[in-house]
Formats: sequence, C-alpha cells, structure tokens
Amino acid sequence: MSAMPLVAEGLTRRFGGLTAVGDVSLTLAVGELHAVIGPNGAGKSTLVNLLAGEMEPSAGRILLGGRNVTRWPAWRRARGRPGQGGIGRSFQKTNVMRDLTVLENVRLAAQVAHGFHARSWLRSPRGAVPAALAALERVGLADEAERVAGTLSHGQLRLLELAMVLATDPAVLLLDEPLAGMGPEESERLAALLRTLAREHALLLIEHDMDVVFAVADVLTVMVEGRVLERGPPAAIRASAAVREAYLGHAIA
Ligand code: ADP
Ligand code: MG
Repeated sequence: MSAMPLVAEGLTRRFGGLTAVGDVSLTLAVGELHAVIGPNGAGKSTLVNLLAGEMEPSAGRILLGGRNVTRWPAWRRARGRPGQGGIGRSFQKTNVMRDLTVLENVRLAAQVAHGFHARSWLRSPRGAVPAALAALERVGLADEAERVAGTLSHGQLRLLELAMVLATDPAVLLLDEPLAGMGPEESERLAALLRTLAREHALLLIEHDMDVVFAVADVLTVMVEGRVLERGPPAAIRASAAVREAYLGHAIA
C-alpha cells in the first residue's frame, strides 16, 4: 500500500454560478486522521462526493496510490487496484437492508466489494462471513449479529453502516458525520474507534462535534465557502484568528 493513498489537487466543483468546492488540495495518509470542518454550506460533503467519485469535478485531479483516478466511477474507486484497498465511504443516508440480519448486511457488503475479484475467497458467502464478523467486532456490534437490522437503534444502524464499509477492507475511509444522531456512549466508543482506524487507514472525517474533532484529529482543514481557509494540527487551528473570525456566531471548540 502506498504511504500516500489519496491525493487531491486543485479540486473544484461548480454548480452554475456557485463554487461549492474551489481549488482544494488535500493529502490523506495512512496513520493520519484528517478532519475537515467548516460552517454549513462550506463544501465538505461535496468534497467527499468528489473524492468518492459520486460526482465529477469541474477541475482538478485525484490520485489513489499514485494513480490518476479522476475519471473513475465510484464503484471502481471503491474496489481500488488489485492488491491495494480502495475508497470506503459511509453515506449519510443508510443503505442497510432492514429485513436482513446485521451479519447478512455486512457479509453482502463484503461480497459485493470483492465480487469484482474473480478469484477472491471473500466472494463466496462462506468466505465473507469471517470478514463480516471481524468488522462487526470492531464496531462493537458482534453481539447483535443475528438481529434483524430494522430493529437496531439509530446509533447502532450508524455503526452497522461503518461495519459494512470496513468489511470491504478499504485503504481510505471517508466518513461524513459518522456521529450524527448517536448517544454519548456510542459517540465516545466511535471516537475511540476512529483513532484506531486511523492507524491502518487514510481517514477523512467530517464532523460537527468540535470536542470530538479536536480530540481525535491529527490534521484539520478548515473550509469556508468552498475554499481552504486554514490547515494544521488542532492546536494551531484553535489559535487561528482567521478560523475564529470565520466561525463568528458559530461554535468552535
Ligand atoms: P457542507 O457539507 O459543508 O454543508 P455542501 O457540500 O453540502 O456543504 O454544499 C456546499 C454548497 O454547494 C452549498 O451552497 C450547497 O447548497 C451547494 N450544493 C451542494 N450540492 C449541490 C447540488 N447537487 N446542486 C446544487 N448545489 C449544490
Ligand atoms: Mg454536509
């Protein structure tokens, strides 16, 4: 695996006259938790959509493990290159199948992701189960494996979604507000898990809870109106006058 798995250079996305993301460059490295913060409408979700391949940039390019993937569709970026993981992203809108069990949901996610690799053992139902169980273990849902997914609490559903992403064995994780709607206990657990995950993945986190962001991030990028206003370690961002000004009237740490 490359030490710098995901690089964005000059990413720009316009919607008519609006520049939702303007000339944003970013490097996501394994072992580094990179948080993107900014007021509502700053372009954070659009940035994630561009990186995941859900949306085409108006300008700029994206490199995955050194390879230009700017024109790759989302499914191909999720698969990645043989021998290297791809991009795993959690959706704000759930894609859980509520009538299936928790384990079945995660197993299917693993199978779909690996189905492209013809000889992958994970492609078979039996082969995917250990990967699915390991992913459930990681997010703390192993005890709920046999439950029907539709009976989970909102917070548990979010954890299930994360397990479904992890089961695909991605190199890069793009998490857009993973703590949304979680209770304090689940939030705390997930925040700790994010730290662990960042050791093995390149992790981009978008999160509104500033206590969590400043506690877990190694690097922060502050976006305002589509642009990068500031970037640095938490202490530098906290001390930045420009960041404070941009957030006037908003809560930051
Ligand atoms: P954030 O996630 O930081 O709140 P978004 O990326 O969702 O911000 O949105 C950035 C800006 O782009 C907003 O002004 C939003 O209205 C606009 N925008 C996002 N997606 C679309 C779209 N599909 N069509 C038109 N405008 C969009
Ligand atoms: Mg958003």
